[in-house]
Amino acid sequence: MNIKKIILYDEPSIPEIKISDLASFIKDNFSVDVVINDNFFLDLNKSEVKLLTKTRMFDIYKQKISYEPEKHITNFEEQLCKNSSIMEKTTKIEDAENISEVVMYDGFEMQKFLRNQIRYTRNDTLHIIFTNRLTCTFDESDYRYHGRAVICANPAIISTTGIIEAPAKSKEFYIQAMANKSQGLDINSVKEQHKGEFLEYHDERLAKIIEGYVLQIIFYNITGESFCEYLDCRLNNAHWQRDLLYSQIEVSKLCEKHQMILDMQK
Ligand SMILES: [Zn+2]
Repeated sequence: MNIKKIILYDEPSIPEIKISDLASFIKDNFSVDVVINDNFFLDLNKSEVKLLTKTRMFDIYKQKISYEPEKHITNFEEQLCKNSSIMEKTTKIEDAENISEVVMYDGFEMQKFLRNQIRYTRNDTLHIIFTNRLTCTFDESDYRYHGRAVICANPAIISTTGIIEAPAKSKEFYIQAMANKSQGLDINSVKEQHKGEFLEYHDERLAKIIEGYVLQIIFYNITGESFCEYLDCRLNNAHWQRDLLYSQIEVSKLCEKHQMILDMQK
């Protein structure tokens, strides 16, 4: 394996990542050194924060174009870098009246920003950056942005908000939630009815789910392909919460082919 060292950058406002356990999980499965670093965004200076702000996108139907961010947006980003826990109020799609209220970032633009920030790195070091910022990527097939839980390559990004918001909940949930909203009711009763079927903010199951995303990132960097078509494999790229929980919690292992690749890495 050409990767000798993996650096994990923590997202302290999401303790459910359980980053020390995650480091042990990686060391148990791959012969690499694992280092845990603080939140990547903590020490950005003003001009760096401004560059990061420029990776925000505001319209899911328009591919992001370069723009000069307004002062209040840069200020918000500055606060966020110091204390990421303030993000949570702004990312819950179900609470937003309009999707444009949700704070979103172009995932590939953010990755470019992070790559420039890292500047000096060895080829054998893989950087995995956790954030609760919601990363999205523009899909040419339907001309809109979609939330993304993981951006592979190096540096890789794992969006804890993306894990919760990007894979879809069941159709039944959305239909019932819409019915409640149209009657002016909140959706708490619907969420209660579907409890456990999907991940919620600060869900205890996040740690296990994140192991799967980390495997996808490492496999991408070893083999050039991150995802597996089989649901019975932790490398499956789940589009539904149901499938995500199935692959990562119920099955919780790799398919035969990918297990063989993993065994060869030790
Ligand atoms: Zn597989």
